[in-house]
Amino acid sequence: MKNDKNRPRGEKNLFVIQKHQATNLHYDFRLSDGDVLISWAVPKGLSTAANEKRLAISTDDHPMDYADFEGVIPEDEYGAGTVMVWDNGEYELIGEDADKSLRKALKDGSFKFELHGQKLAGGYAMIRMDKKGDQEEWLIFKLDDSNADGRRNPESTQPDSVLTDRSLEDIRRESAK
Ligand code: MN
Repeated sequence: MKNDKNRPRGEKNLFVIQKHQATNLHYDFRLSDGDVLISWAVPKGLSTAANEKRLAISTDDHPMDYADFEGVIPEDEYGAGTVMVWDNGEYELIGEDADKSLRKALKDGSFKFELHGQKLAGGYAMIRMDKKGDQEEWLIFKLDDSNADGRRNPESTQPDSVLTDRSLEDIRRESAK
């Protein structure tokens, strides 16, 4: 386990949201911690409206390399379906959590952070609600700041990849070639 004192100066904390058309469409929200991506599946995606809570179910950590992955996961593999990089950028823990490592914040079960993404920006919070075996249910919601805007709906107005501008259908079609 690492703590902030060991974090090299200037190391960036990255976030990525991958839109994933598996059995059900969902958004995989990932925060970097050292060389792994701490991950949640968010069925409805992150809201831009202040205090509108969305369910986030913890999933396995992914390697950092996965942050740029777009393509099709084969039928017989875990997460089979099409993956797009829907948003990415940097994040930072804020307020009382600013000096914590992400691991410590996760252990505490509640933390605030700011996203500096291409589609999503501003403060968010996560709160752990329940634990079922290895799986944790969290709520994620937008803090009421100048970036909060309930009229925005980037899932529908900006549906395509921030890396390649492709739609899920484009990615699926190009992977089949
Ligand atoms: Mn997924």
